[in-house]
Amino acid sequence: MKKSFQHVILIFFSIIFCITFTTYINSSLLYKNHQKVINFYDIKKLEYIIEPKFEKNSTKLNVDLYIELKNKPNILNMLYLHIPNKFGFAENLHRDIKNLNIVESEAIIVHTNEPYTKIIKNILTNIIHINYTVTCSVKNLKNMNGQNDYYRPILTKNYFHLIGYNFIVFPCWKYENQKRYYTENDNLNIILKWKNMPTNWKFANSHGINNPEQNLFISISNFIYSIYIAGDFIIKKFTCKNYPVFLVMLGKSSFQYKEFVEIAKKAINTQREFWNDYNFPHFLITILPLGKNHNYGGVSLLNSSVIFLGEKKELKSIDSIYCINHECFHTWNKGKIANYTLPWFSEGFTDYYAYNFALNTKLLTFHQYINIYNKTLYNLYISSFKDEKFPYYLGHVLAHNWNSKIKNKTNGKFSLDNIMHDIINKSKNNNKKITTKLINDIIKNYIKEGINEDIKKYIEKKQTIIPDKNALGSCYTLNWIKIKKGNKEFDIPQYILKSNPLIY
Ligand SMILES: [Zn+2]
Repeated sequence: MKKSFQHVILIFFSIIFCITFTTYINSSLLYKNHQKVINFYDIKKLEYIIEPKFEKNSTKLNVDLYIELKNKPNILNMLYLHIPNKFGFAENLHRDIKNLNIVESEAIIVHTNEPYTKIIKNILTNIIHINYTVTCSVKNLKNMNGQNDYYRPILTKNYFHLIGYNFIVFPCWKYENQKRYYTENDNLNIILKWKNMPTNWKFANSHGINNPEQNLFISISNFIYSIYIAGDFIIKKFTCKNYPVFLVMLGKSSFQYKEFVEIAKKAINTQREFWNDYNFPHFLITILPLGKNHNYGGVSLLNSSVIFLGEKKELKSIDSIYCINHECFHTWNKGKIANYTLPWFSEGFTDYYAYNFALNTKLLTFHQYINIYNKTLYNLYISSFKDEKFPYYLGHVLAHNWNSKIKNKTNGKFSLDNIMHDIINKSKNNNKKITTKLINDIIKNYIKEGINEDIKKYIEKKQTIIPDKNALGSCYTLNWIKIKKGNKEFDIPQYILKSNPLIY
């Protein structure tokens, strides 16, 4: 009797366990099946309201982000948020974003093992209100060093210098392979409002000027690939075939607007003429002073060239002229020709053209131009292919060599310029992407053998490139000089002016 009672009890608990377990399995399956990541197609609009907070020792931005969904979400819906993470050498940008929270809602933020990814769950309303603070972690604004500083949010009492990548929190969504994407090309309604700004401040960004409220129809990729500045500054303007180009210098810099306008005008006019491409309804060039140092840098963003210059640099210095020409050229060579996997092309060829335009517009003398190219050769020969700047040097030399080769073999009828024009036309049909094969195919239309051998030798096998002795014309000859660096000796090619024949 006792035993059979035990049996009954055992069977009873087994049944209970089975029912509970199956229900658990079923509900977790059900949960999984209905869990849905909110994506691009669920979003009606994004609204960013930005308000400055001027405190005694710091300046911050309060950002209210409203994500409006087309439909009321299901309890099992979840939304991925991307927090700024990396831009160039500036890393851990999420550390500059503080107090991320959801306002007046049952929704909760779930942290993930990536500090730049958050998940919002338990969303019950079709508007999700997120609030966060943007801080400025760069302590020494009067002496900024490198991209790690000037690519971060720069917030001062007199101006803000922001790049979408460093301060915009935005929704993202994942599809297959657990990868997160934010739709590259699809446009979305995005509203950007600046609130309670000092009355004398002006606004300039990749989307327009002097508008504290902008209603944009833009992809999230382009929205973050943008410059946003506000402050007490002067906006200069010139036009190129009736399209305006705006110039802004931030802070108290020693630079003269007159010089800035002159260099920018020459760069924009000659480059648009080179590409025969004038359709830029809005374009902005900005200069952020880096304080008392010799640093300089730049980045090309949507409808803009963003320049960083140490105050000790004069605007008419070679570095400033180079920087403005180089960044403007990226509008095409990176912007309209996508070649992120070919840095020797996107950076080195951009260098070649930046100096050529500067020479053609008389911003550089021929003497300076030769010295710069000799310096490039020197840098190339003493550096290793692992150096960050190596593709700049290699591409610069390849561009000179190929230009010389095409000119020689076609009796001066064609040059590298023809190749560039063909590349941009071809890349239009190829979703902007170019490859070494495409470049070679184009060059083969001008010179039979193409440049495949150079690609194999100098790019794939990383052999040392020999500059073409005719690259700089018949007045210059190529010499080899020995240079000692530490206990290493280098043979470095340098162009020198052929000695003038003595006339008796
Ligand atoms: Zn560049």
